[in-house]
Amino acid sequence: MKFDLHTHHARCGHARGELRDYVEAAISAGLDILGFSDHSPFFAEAADHHKPGVAMAKSDFPGYLAEAAALREEYRGRIRILIGVESDFFPEHVGLYRRIYEGIDLDYVIGSVHVMGGTDIFDLRRWENASPEFLLEEKEKYCELIADSARSGMFDILGHIDALRGNCPEIGSIKTAAVDRMLRVIAESDTVVEVNTSGGTKACGGWYPQPDVLERAAYFGVKITFGSDAHVPERIAEDHELVRKRLREIGYREWYVFEGRERRSLPL
Ligand SMILES: [Zn+2]
Ligand SMILES: [Zn+2]
Repeated sequence: MKFDLHTHHARCGHARGELRDYVEAAISAGLDILGFSDHSPFFAEAADHHKPGVAMAKSDFPGYLAEAAALREEYRGRIRILIGVESDFFPEHVGLYRRIYEGIDLDYVIGSVHVMGGTDIFDLRRWENASPEFLLEEKEKYCELIADSARSGMFDILGHIDALRGNCPEIGSIKTAAVDRMLRVIAESDTVVEVNTSGGTKACGGWYPQPDVLERAAYFGVKITFGSDAHVPERIAEDHELVRKRLREIGYREWYVFEGRERRSLPL
């Protein structure tokens, strides 16, 4: 079974191509299952379109769901389409987001931390003249936020759990017990983590989580899924087979997809 649960499209303002382009690319790539998971709106903000270029407008969300559902019907029999979102995790707005996601018909919700301390984690200015102490502090804070996102119980999948190193690769080599603590919480909360192959679109390269963190995740029994995080149709399912092989090497025998927010295992 070939699948990709993490994909975007033009509505978020920083991806190229319409939903249909991703469906066609997925069929060309031989996928059995394609999950849509565009950036959900900033529900807690007053403005309809809080950050154009980052996530879709609130008023655009119903159109996203309707178009995705129509494509699911149109392509039935050729590819199975799942409808999800990639949601920001804002600890202060957990109640609001949870209510919204429970009130709509989604297959899954990916929870990701893109903003910490009010700044985008990929913002290069964040890392200018950063001391080793600062990097350690930031890394530990990020791990704690990811652990909180798992504890919230509102997400089916956690997105790119070490993306903090995306544009600051040296963060990856900083040792801290916070990483194991985070993985233990994720395992206990029974939340699935994605292997996200979009590291190559940032300075760090490779995949999230980085190799040693992925091995520790296996050690703690963290469940796994796959997402390319494609923002262009050409990246759909990127490295799917390599990820599958790597996961088998480190002991995984199954991975997971979601339908109607129910988890289903697939053999690796
Ligand atoms: Zn994006
Ligand atoms: Zn993301």
